[in-house]
Amino acid sequence: MTSNEVRLGKLTRREFREARQAGRFQACVIPTGAVEQHLEHLAMEHDIRSACCVAEEVARRMFPQVIVAEPLNFGISEHHMVHPGTLSAKPGPWLSSLFDAIESMVRHGCGNVLVVNGHGGNEAPVYGMLRQWQLFFQNQHPNVNVQFHSYWNLSRVEAEEICDTGVPGHAQEYETSIALHLFPENVRSDAMNDQEDALPLTATAEKGEQFFEVAVAKTVEYLEGMMAGGNREIRPHLMSHQLDPKVDRD
Ligand SMILES: [Zn+2]
Repeated sequence: MTSNEVRLGKLTRREFREARQAGRFQACVIPTGAVEQHLEHLAMEHDIRSACCVAEEVARRMFPQVIVAEPLNFGISEHHMVHPGTLSAKPGPWLSSLFDAIESMVRHGCGNVLVVNGHGGNEAPVYGMLRQWQLFFQNQHPNVNVQFHSYWNLSRVEAEEICDTGVPGHAQEYETSIALHLFPENVRSDAMNDQEDALPLTATAEKGEQFFEVAVAKTVEYLEGMMAGGNREIRPHLMSHQLDPKVDRD
């Protein structure tokens, strides 16, 4: 293989097979996210687009150790269905698809699989299943380590030092800054103050660059820990509002 491609779907079967035979791509990241309303100013693809950007940059920095499997583009977003355009998967089938993607990559020899998530609504359903999934892999494929993290949780301490209004927030300072840095065409700046608190107005591309950098750096560090045999415990990060059905923020 001559290219430095890190996306599974861009490789031929020969390129992937020979890379595996040469000991490359021992770890896999799978991006998950959402396609859902992000207030009036941010395009609906934000959660999956940002998760893919983090995942691909992590894989590039760790090349050729890490492959990025196909993302699960839309997620569990029933709480946003009141806004037309949101796509929402039912938790059962969505979790099933994610598990199947993980298992496929494990069967192809990836001993460490990290799901890099960009949508808060996916967290509680996955954490509800993760222990059972880990036990399955321990029984069927000893030494395999499967983990799940939202990229902002691995870098929360660092991001909160930069972010004035809470990490991640929904289409607020954190997410809007990341969009301004990575894909500014997704931000309608003339609509950023269309809500009462106008929190997106505190977003800047410079902050977005810092949020992205710490998210990538911390994810690389975590994945390197997995590949060294560590980071095997489940560390759920659930925000209290995610357990409150009345609150519609993530
Ligand atoms: Zn979002």
